Amino acid sequence: MSDLRELYQEVIFDHYKTPRNCHVLAGANHHAEGFNPLCGDQVTVYLKVEHGVIEDLSFEGSGCAISTASASLMTEALKGRTIAEVEQLFDDFHRMVTASDAAPHPQLGKLEALAGVREFPARVKCATLAWHTLHAALKDQAKPVTTE
Ligand code: ZN
Repeated sequence: MSDLRELYQEVIFDHYKTPRNCHVLAGANHHAEGFNPLCGDQVTVYLKVEHGVIEDLSFEGSGCAISTASASLMTEALKGRTIAEVEQLFDDFHRMVTASDAAPHPQLGKLEALAGVREFPARVKCATLAWHTLHAALKDQAKPVTTE
């Protein structure tokens, strides 16, 4: 399990210990719930979207370090972004955590801290849970998202 320690880099640990935007969002006009039964991670993502821009977003939930840090980093990265930018980042993020090569993704900024999960296929679901839940929130999907 020593390799797993490398996964918990400083950025991930910091966002796990002190998650950003971790609360119910007053004035949210979209939200969705997500669940990763493999690990037990649960997340609710709240969005306030105005004129195609994510004006504000937040999350609540309980889960492992990876799922919590990923949700926290995601909320930081997406505030003020247009829906088109969010879709692009979702694709880039998903590619980063599932790619077999370790190509750099400078456009992802701090989200690159999660690149190490590609070595741990079971952890990819922890890292992408918040993103899939965000997607569901944008589509006003009433059914909770599950990674299984
Ligand atoms: Zn997890």
